[in-house]
Amino acid sequence: MANNEETRGLKSLLDWFANRRKSGSSTPEQERQEREIADGLWHKCSECGVLAYTKDLRANQMVCIECGHHNRVDSDERIYQLIDPGTWRPMDEHLRPTDPLQFRDRKAYAERLRETQEKTGLVDAVQTGLGQINGLSVALGVMDFRFIGASMGSVVGEKITRLIEQATQRRYPVFIVCTSGGARMQEGMLSLMQMAKISAALQRHQEARLLYVPILTNPTTGGVTASFAMLGDIILAEPKSTIGFAGRRVIEQTLREKLPDDFQTAEDLLKHGFIDEIVSRTQLKKTLTQLIALHQPPVVATPHNMVMWETRTLSSTGVD
Ligand SMILES: [Zn+2]
Repeated sequence: MANNEETRGLKSLLDWFANRRKSGSSTPEQERQEREIADGLWHKCSECGVLAYTKDLRANQMVCIECGHHNRVDSDERIYQLIDPGTWRPMDEHLRPTDPLQFRDRKAYAERLRETQEKTGLVDAVQTGLGQINGLSVALGVMDFRFIGASMGSVVGEKITRLIEQATQRRYPVFIVCTSGGARMQEGMLSLMQMAKISAALQRHQEARLLYVPILTNPTTGGVTASFAMLGDIILAEPKSTIGFAGRRVIEQTLREKLPDDFQTAEDLLKHGFIDEIVSRTQLKKTLTQLIALHQPPVVATPHNMVMWETRTLSSTGVD
């Protein structure tokens, strides 16, 4: 046993020297490329290893041109991808997280918040606002995984609830780009209450016969999956996203069973009817436009149509 470990240790040491020699003998061209990756000019795909100009990758919405891998994008980039230029109106930017439990794990929660805010330029893990998608008015929420794993605390819950309520009032469709590690445990019970609050707002939105579509991205888990991520009229997901409630390891330990490789992937969920469609990010804006158009066909203002429209609107609000 000890011998084996020694051999392994020696081998990894030899590998290290070999790699060092290799990197020492890299050509000026390779060195230049490495420098440019560090500068962010180039991006190396984590799936297929192909190098792409960051500018080209961005033009393809951060989807690998070679293998189709969907790189993670932050909320600013996502808003840029979906919303028509110049139409974004952010909401509730003044809502700031507090630390009601004076919580401390490896680090004090207050400190973790401050650091993350500085690093990301965000106040909390979701951006919400009103804007247009190909000229159609929408309410959009975008979660950001960089902010404490896009965990859902009071601010995330409150901002999403207000977004939905605003959309119900204006009769706009709601889209939420979901990603989350779950409820924010640093806020204890307050974070769990957000699930019920958002679900109630969505129920009122549905009663007004308005559209809600969540877009599940990698990863969407925990309390977000257990509430608004699964309450859509139509549920979309990005390819190969991990979507689940409890983590794989927890389930394996509970069931004492090995789970299949594609467990908790968007593809597996689609097969079992949990989601409605997997849409490539490059097709997302087009798909959302089609969904809005199908749900709320544009009204051409002829006298006949105006009567039709009024009848439909009145009956949908419950007025006879
Ligand atoms: Zn790739």
